[in-house]
Amino acid sequence: MSTPVLQTRLPAVGYTVFSLMSALASEHGAVNLGQGFPDFPCEPALLDHVDAAMRAGHNQYPMMTGVPALRDAIAAKIAALYGAQYNPASEITVTAGATQALTTAILCCVHPGDEVIVIEPAYDSYLPAITLAGGVPVPVAMELGEQGYTVPWDQVAAAVTPRTRLIVINTPHNPTGAILRAPDLHALGGIVRGSDILILSDEVYEHMVYDGVRHESVCRYPELAERSFVVSSFGKTYHVTGWKIGYVAAPASLMAEFRKVHQYNVFSVNTPMQHGLATYMADPAPYRDLPAFYQRKRDLFRDGLKGSRFTLLPADGTYFQCVKYEAISPILESDFAQWLTTEIKVAAIPVSAFYSQGRESGIVRFCFAKKDETLRLALERLARL
Ligand SMILES: *Cc1c(COP(=O)(O)O)cnc(C)c1O
Repeated sequence: MSTPVLQTRLPAVGYTVFSLMSALASEHGAVNLGQGFPDFPCEPALLDHVDAAMRAGHNQYPMMTGVPALRDAIAAKIAALYGAQYNPASEITVTAGATQALTTAILCCVHPGDEVIVIEPAYDSYLPAITLAGGVPVPVAMELGEQGYTVPWDQVAAAVTPRTRLIVINTPHNPTGAILRAPDLHALGGIVRGSDILILSDEVYEHMVYDGVRHESVCRYPELAERSFVVSSFGKTYHVTGWKIGYVAAPASLMAEFRKVHQYNVFSVNTPMQHGLATYMADPAPYRDLPAFYQRKRDLFRDGLKGSRFTLLPADGTYFQCVKYEAISPILESDFAQWLTTEIKVAAIPVSAFYSQGRESGIVRFCFAKKDETLRLALERLARL
């Protein structure tokens, strides 16, 4: 064999910590609160709708942009929740998960040498996508204070240069569980006003905001929406992460560029799932009831940790709970997460994995999108610490 040597386009990328921790968890019989996915099923009605769509013959290529009924349902939802009008024909595209939407948005607008501001800790797919596009990631670290993690907008403003093409935001935020509030979006508006800077807003946890607080979608802010790609994920909202279906909403001129890349990278997304989702979306109850559903799990998990030496960080959104473990151990986050998995038999994710430079804060992330019995078993083990 003499396979030619391939020079990597992604030198910084190895196996993700999520796959590594999941493998370690199953090897050691640990409760897996690491990787972010539910261990309970979706509603049977959703499966019935998809089944019906397949049997009705919706099994060939759909339109490149997505099944019209689904794009209509998405536009109607955005209008009802956030008061923003997106034309389903020209401003909504169905994607193979939010990850594809994020990567495609980055590829369609970032030119070699363009700078992209990324707020860290950050979801792991942003940086490789920026690198593949030839862009230069410019990380800005969130600050950790009394109210938990916040975005230092003065530092974001200071990171802007004439080469800045895009700012990536994520609210509710993975891994911290923080949410952006109205003053944050006003600050962002002040930074981009009068510039050519675009915004990529990752809102896959849009329906997981707790304590009666509303989700501040960029769609609510016309001055932001006019320059934004807004991304969401049906996998996250409807407990079907394995389906890998999401969508992007953006003004028509941005969407035209997005679709040029989408057309030759993916072309189109699974037809029967799109029809099933379109029918299912007619009822708002599943996403309307989601905050209460997850808030109860969050509170169950937080209450169970109260007697332990973990310090709970605020968890205002997403299905993640971050904890400080300095009262238990001084070791590095990845070592602590491994020790938790192999010795205590509960898997977690080190927050350092979400920083390009591996910053250490003595914090790990647990996922509470689990059955109550799974959470109770994990708590039995964690409460001893
Ligand atoms: C899960 C997740 C995604 C990816 O969603 P998919 O639809 O599974 O591709 C994107 N961004 C964040 C912040 C996530 O947590």
